[in-house]
Amino acid sequence: MLNSLVFVHETLLFLYTGFAMSCLFCKIVDGSIPSKSVYEDELCYAFADLHPQAPVHILVAPREHIASMDDTDKSDTALLGHLLWAASEIAREKGLVKGYRLVINTGEDGGQTVDHLHVHLLGGRPLSWPPG
Ligand code: 5GP
Ligand code: ZN
Repeated sequence: MLNSLVFVHETLLFLYTGFAMSCLFCKIVDGSIPSKSVYEDELCYAFADLHPQAPVHILVAPREHIASMDDTDKSDTALLGHLLWAASEIAREKGLVKGYRLVINTGEDGGQTVDHLHVHLLGGRPLSWPPG
């Protein structure tokens, strides 16, 4: 029984590590792929989007690999709150006094293209609504 639990645990750890090692944003967070750093702390890393959709377009990603909002649970609430706080702190630092938008694309219909949870901070121009 214990042996099979250890096997299951090690298999899950292997799969998780494999996903994280092949993840673009994990590589940006650990510095093995270069990025333009904007803010970092023990929980998150924020960097400029490679294809900015607004004068300010920054991505705030958790250091931990979480694929999407669909992979979060109640134990992630403090981390998710921290990501939103970090984005608002960056917005203040960037002087976005007229406002800004925080977006978390999730899954195929949500338009998510990188499977590592991230908050988009968009600002510096009026943003239309509804989104496409
Ligand atoms: P999503 O579509 O998943 O919500 O957002 C992914 C974002 O990552 C896109 O806005 C895209 O421009 C950005 N992105 C994709 N590859 C890279 C990269 O290698 N470096 C940086 N800085 N941003 C990237
Ligand atoms: Zn990742």
